Amino acid sequence: MSLKVWMNGKLVDKEAAVINVYDHGLLYGDGVFEGIRAYNGEPFRLEAHVARLFRAAHHIMLEIPYTQQEIRDAICQTLAANELKDAYIRPVVTRGVGYLGLAPNQTSNPTTFIIVDQITMYPDEMYANGMPVITSTVCRNHPNAVPPQLKSCNYLNNILAQIDAVNAGVPEAIMLNVDGFVAECTGDNIFLIKSGKVRTPSPDQGILEGVTRAAVIEICAEMGMPVEEGVVTRHDLYAADEVFITGTAAEVIGVNKIDDRVIGEGVTGPITKQLMAAFHKLTRGE
Ligand code: PMP
Repeated sequence: MSLKVWMNGKLVDKEAAVINVYDHGLLYGDGVFEGIRAYNGEPFRLEAHVARLFRAAHHIMLEIPYTQQEIRDAICQTLAANELKDAYIRPVVTRGVGYLGLAPNQTSNPTTFIIVDQITMYPDEMYANGMPVITSTVCRNHPNAVPPQLKSCNYLNNILAQIDAVNAGVPEAIMLNVDGFVAECTGDNIFLIKSGKVRTPSPDQGILEGVTRAAVIEICAEMGMPVEEGVVTRHDLYAADEVFITGTAAEVIGVNKIDDRVIGEGVTGPITKQLMAAFHKLTRGE
C-alpha cells in the first residue's frame, strides 16, 4: 500500500504528493514545519507541536489556512489512514506558489501538507553506550537572523553544522551561539549533569525550545532534580559527569565523547539512564 500524504485538505498517494517548482517553500525555504512522533497510534504532545508551528508561522507572517484544531485533526486522520502505530509526522506549511521574486505577498495560497512515515533513529548500540559528537564551526543563528525558535523550512545553517558532523564521522554536532556559548545540536537539545545537578542552555542562548526538552525538564522536576537553565560553556560539557541530548526523533540519548574528549566514564551515565527509562515510560506507558 502506498503511503498517504495529506495535501491541502486531501489524502493523496505519496507519489502524487508533489510540489510546484514555483513554490516559495522550495525556491526560498519560505515556510515552517514540525516534527512529531506517534507512539502506539497517539501523537506525543500534539498540542505543543501544533502551537509551535503556529507561533513560527505567526513570526514569518504566514497565515495558515486552517485552525490549530483542523491541523491536529488532519494529523490524526493521516496517521490513521497510514495504519502506522509508531510514526514520525511532518506537517509543513509553505508560502505557496509565486513568482521568481522574494516578496511573500506575491504568492498565492499557502501549501500545507502532512507526511506520516517511519522513523529513523540512532543505532541501538548508541542508545546503550552513548554517542560521540563534535562542536561545529558553524554558529547557531543570531536571534535577529532566522531565529533559532523557528522550525523554518530553511535549515541550511544546521545542515552546514551537520556537514561538520558527517566529516568527523559522528551523528550530531553541537552548535555554539554567536557569543561562543553552547546553544544546542543541529536537531537536538543538549543537557549536562555535574555533581548531581542537571543543566541546559536557557532559551535566551538561542535554541529551539524542544518539546522533548520540556518533557525532560518536567521529568527531572518530578525526580527531585530541578533543571538549571542558563549559560553553558564548552568547558562545562567537557568537564561534565554526564551529557545527553533530546529530540523528537532521538528521544533521550547519552553522549560519551565531545571533540574526542571522553565525557564522564565514557558510557551512558546513571542519571541519563534513569531519564531514558522515565521518558520511555512517559511515551509508551510501560
Ligand atoms: N533543536 C533543533 C534545532 C531541532 O531541529 C530539534 C528537532 N525538532 C530540537 C532541538 C528538538 O526539539 P523537539 O524535542 O521538539 O523535537
